[in-house]
Amino acid sequence: MGGAFNLGRIFGIQFRLHYTWFIIFVLITFSLSWQYFPYVYPGWNAWTYWLVGIATSLLFFSSVVAHELAHSLVGRANGIPVKSITLFIFGGVAHMTREAARHSAELKMAAAGPIASLVISGLFFAIHLGLKDIIESVAAMAVWLAQINAVLAIFNLIPGFPLDGGRVFRSLLWRFSGNYQRATKIATRVGRGVGYLFILGGISIIFLIPQQWFSGLWLAFIGWFLENTASASYRQTQWQGVLEGVTASELMNATCPVVSPDVTLDHLVQEYIFTGGHRCFLVTGGGELKGILTLRDIKSIAQPNWEVTEVKKVMTPAEKLKVAYPDQDVLSILEQMGEHNISQMPVVSEGRVVGLVTRDNLVRFLRTRSKLGI
Ligand SMILES: [Zn+2]
Repeated sequence: MGGAFNLGRIFGIQFRLHYTWFIIFVLITFSLSWQYFPYVYPGWNAWTYWLVGIATSLLFFSSVVAHELAHSLVGRANGIPVKSITLFIFGGVAHMTREAARHSAELKMAAAGPIASLVISGLFFAIHLGLKDIIESVAAMAVWLAQINAVLAIFNLIPGFPLDGGRVFRSLLWRFSGNYQRATKIATRVGRGVGYLFILGGISIIFLIPQQWFSGLWLAFIGWFLENTASASYRQTQWQGVLEGVTASELMNATCPVVSPDVTLDHLVQEYIFTGGHRCFLVTGGGELKGILTLRDIKSIAQPNWEVTEVKKVMTPAEKLKVAYPDQDVLSILEQMGEHNISQMPVVSEGRVVGLVTRDNLVRFLRTRSKLGI
């Protein structure tokens, strides 16, 4: 997800905040401090409403992080590495570098989030009961948080992918059919259906209960987001099916010319790209691989600067490279690319670079297949 910045690590997992999160944070804080608390608890002073509103809002998002953390830690314990947790406008998302390899792992990981939210809800309710005759403001905060966490758990259990309930549903389908692809197809289809229902429900609210237009709009947006995510997952499964069993040697660029690190981009483009049509380069100096360069790297530099930019400035240096092997599964290469945030890997055989696999190779391979209808 672009537009997010790192806040640090929790339990070794990168914690990120997307800029759209500020929108929802402000919306929730305002609606608590301006509407909900003054309406339900009249008689506090203005500062108290704001203070309690902000604190409640922050605790709410901490609960969302705890929910995602539950997914992540259970996932990690079951062999699904989680790279980051991002808070954004529609809540939180844990970014995994690979899907579960077993249905039991997916079931546990998916269920962990809603269970965490239910536990948190119970804790806040206990706090509310304990403090309701002692500190009204804290008790007020706690009861709202108890309710919202219960809502969070229940909402997430709706069986449409990518919601947690949809993942639980998929893991069960997967378990009983033994077919991951088919299970994903069904779960994402139900997910798209849920998305459309939300959009329809949202639009109905806008027209039937005009004073609730904002809730309607919000519901429609969530529906749109769910539909999009479900479709993307569906497409991903489709191309995973296509890539299954394909190896690096089948789609690597095997003809990457060797160039010197001191050559300018301008020279490279004139010499190799215009005339030879090459898309990748092995940068070597003194008989040693210094790095690799792809069209994408060249494009990252504005054309007027090509004359003064040397290859070594834009190449991916050798120490940052992860290598692949000719008979390595392309899907596992994609996973590694995702895990290390890289878009190319040299293919090495017997200590020698024999080619280069790039994300562009994969995209072109998939496009060709889909054009041919296979
Ligand atoms: Zn969840």
